[in-house]
Amino acid sequence: PVGRPHDGIAAPHAILGDGRANSAGMDLADEDTLEALAATLRAGLSGVGDAPRSMMNPADTRDVVGTVRDAMPDAGQAAIATAEAAAPGWEAKPAATRAAMLERAADLMEARMPALLGPIVREAGKSLPNAIAEVREAVDFLRYYAAEARGLAGRPLGPVACIAPWNFPLAIFTGQVAAALAAGNAVLAKPAEEVPLIGGTAVAILHEAGVPREVLHLVVGDGTVGAALVADARVQGVMFTGSTAVARLINRELAKRLGRDGLPVPLVAETGGQNALVVDSSAQPEQVVADVLASAFDSAGQRCSALRLLCLQDDVADGIIAMLKGAMAELRVGRPDRLDTDVGPVISAEARQGLLAHVAAMRDAGHAVHALPLPPECDQGHFVAPTLIEIDRVASLTQEVFGPILHVLRFRRDGMDQLLRDIAATGYALTFGVHSRIDETIDRLVEAAPAGNVYVNRSIIGAVVGVQPFGGHGLSGTGPKAGGPLYLPRLVRAAPPPHGG
Ligand code: GLU
Repeated sequence: PVGRPHDGIAAPHAILGDGRANSAGMDLADEDTLEALAATLRAGLSGVGDAPRSMMNPADTRDVVGTVRDAMPDAGQAAIATAEAAAPGWEAKPAATRAAMLERAADLMEARMPALLGPIVREAGKSLPNAIAEVREAVDFLRYYAAEARGLAGRPLGPVACIAPWNFPLAIFTGQVAAALAAGNAVLAKPAEEVPLIGGTAVAILHEAGVPREVLHLVVGDGTVGAALVADARVQGVMFTGSTAVARLINRELAKRLGRDGLPVPLVAETGGQNALVVDSSAQPEQVVADVLASAFDSAGQRCSALRLLCLQDDVADGIIAMLKGAMAELRVGRPDRLDTDVGPVISAEARQGLLAHVAAMRDAGHAVHALPLPPECDQGHFVAPTLIEIDRVASLTQEVFGPILHVLRFRRDGMDQLLRDIAATGYALTFGVHSRIDETIDRLVEAAPAGNVYVNRSIIGAVVGVQPFGGHGLSGTGPKAGGPLYLPRLVRAAPPPHGG
């Protein structure tokens, strides 16, 4: 099946366990819908606490989205104690009862889609279509894991820490929490420090749907709060999405102790990628350009799955690069609450500085850099122009560049195997794409692709829950894939092998 289009409206792709299709989104072409949305985009947000840390809109730093009170590194302590005490009661509930609560939360989220968009647009800087896609994915995760839980064998781990990223502040946050709860675990849920209001909203909906407050705790704060959760001996599992570097720190911390069953404490980590798209000379150039724009610049490139390295067969490279530059000139960069915006802000001033430093370093190293000036409205926020950087070997990519920056490399037809080896040598293995009209080439590349998710003649982003389980290996994560059948089994204790087996 193809991925969902980026307008937030698509035909359903899968029938999830409760007999429902993937969440359907909203019609942004409908005027009444738009009018209702305008109000939610302006609405004030109530904070997650009282002693304020102000959350600013990354597209306009004059816009205070709300305030939060961060937990102190040790304030998770009380939450962990409560979660631990509540865990047996949660485990004792029939799986169907827990699943029904998650399904109720899905219904609530879907019904409140318009109200949820405001925080996602204003706190995380996501475009409206991206924000709609987030709500849909969160709803899908709730329904999918609820259905999977009904047939799950095995006892829960115990209190589990969910440490979520800012780039999918509703979808991935909700997905982690839903999976952990569905498998019968009590949860300490830590949204990324950049997006606590969205995380708080998701937790409130889950509580409203019946998940006891003692079982699901919102823990707000920075990395020190996450580190305290990971280091606590009562925490029996960790789910993490974020950088490879932080995943390694978590791994190191968890290696210092064993769980209460005497086994290593499980870590499910989804991390970064050096995602490549290989385009041969038979590819359809207009389709390549459209899919490259979506893959590299949608969500301002702030997806783990986003395209970082476009590999063009040398005899078509000039033509495709010229078309790509033309198409980049048509992208509208600006405020994400405008319907005609293609590329919104990056998450923070630090993120912007890091991206600009990378571009400057590449320019200094002699690489050709193509970027257009930003419109004046971008002065108010953290914007980075969609940028194309020509490189001549994969090894020039020394770090994951998490933003709207695309590297382009030329290869010779007889150099394709070496190219694949070079991509594999980055150690990352998340997403990968092929554009070709030659079946043999497609088969060969799909077979050899160093990635968890491989896409043919389409964009390489936007995996759909229940249809395209998402995740990688190597430096890109531990697996299992989110939104797939192997995910929940990782969140229960490994069953002892049968005697003699
Ligand atoms: N599942 C998302 C996608 O396929 C990416 C998730 C991420 O960036 O962590 O686009």
